[in-house]
Amino acid sequence: MATPDPAYIQQTLTRLVQINSVNPAFDPAAPGEGPVAQWIAAELERLGCRVTRREPSRGRVSVAGTLAGSGEGPSLMLYGHIDTVGVEGMEDPWSGKVEEGRLYGRGAYDMKCGVAACLAALETLRRTGTRLRGDLVVCGVADEETESLGMTDLLQVVHTDAAVVTEPTELAVYVAHKGFCWLEVETFGRAAHGSRFQDGVDANLRMGRVLAELEGLERKVRTGPPHPVLGPPSLHAAVLRGGTGLSTYAASCVLQIERRTVPGESPAVVLAEVEAILRKLRDEDPSFEAKARLLLARPSLEGSADSAIARAVIAAATQRLGRAPEVSGAAYWMDAALIAEAGIETVVIGPTGTGAHAAVEWVDLESVNAVAAILADAATEYCGVAG
Ligand SMILES: [Zn+2]
Repeated sequence: MATPDPAYIQQTLTRLVQINSVNPAFDPAAPGEGPVAQWIAAELERLGCRVTRREPSRGRVSVAGTLAGSGEGPSLMLYGHIDTVGVEGMEDPWSGKVEEGRLYGRGAYDMKCGVAACLAALETLRRTGTRLRGDLVVCGVADEETESLGMTDLLQVVHTDAAVVTEPTELAVYVAHKGFCWLEVETFGRAAHGSRFQDGVDANLRMGRVLAELEGLERKVRTGPPHPVLGPPSLHAAVLRGGTGLSTYAASCVLQIERRTVPGESPAVVLAEVEAILRKLRDEDPSFEAKARLLLARPSLEGSADSAIARAVIAAATQRLGRAPEVSGAAYWMDAALIAEAGIETVVIGPTGTGAHAAVEWVDLESVNAVAAILADAATEYCGVAG
């Protein structure tokens, strides 16, 4: 059993945290993924990989390094995203300082720790002269925190038989995660001076009817039969905008809804639920006017603990942790579903820490070492060793 080098992991993670890669969606002046991708590309090359660089939008860079196998085994992707959220309220976001086994800074936990673990797994195979049968592809991916521009693009050119996503899971193995849909409802009124009740139709009050019905729908989806791993779906009325001034009847009111979905719920079904509410309100009052549309839909992930990659990861985790890992799912969304949607069997395992999107973020270095070891073992098991 080849063991990753803790010093390599700490140095690599420190370097990754010290390179600002804030997603420009959080700060227009942010550098994006270019500089960190360049550093990772150089490291992948040093470790013997053929590097593919993608830039689907200016400054938004993903890299994939392929360690060629002998060609006789299945191929495996090790995934990490390299963008981070903003640094508002953080004291020293790019320090990478280490205290009591914790490495601090923006991205330390979400999820440069996973990227460091992927690189360390590669470095371990390389250092021990382990030649795999299948290709091993390490991906540093742009723009996971907003629109998944990076993975959507990278999947056009990278395809493997399986993937391990190293988003932080506190060393649990996730085989599923929820998806989401963003919807917009607009109610229509008629603008008029606030004194002219005879002429005005109040779009905001009409949205009130929608909101009351939505509360019923929210209760219904949340108390329905839950998904065995992910629990119930949910929705919330996230953003509400209506009216132009105090002395004017609102001509329009717009509501944006987020609906978190479980496997089996399609965007069409989710939209139809809301359209059914609008139809009911129109039946009750023919003057009620509204429309609904889908803004964005992201699929959920439904994998299996029985897939070849899940079995390899669970066996490796059991060995390295000295106990069977928890096998579960995530309520939040990640790129894993996009990878699975491309026909690649996908599981998730990552380090322990806290502070994703918060003012103090750290990762437990011991857990990063463990993930690196699990990845190296799982790759060896899944891809096979060339004779
Ligand atoms: Zn993440």
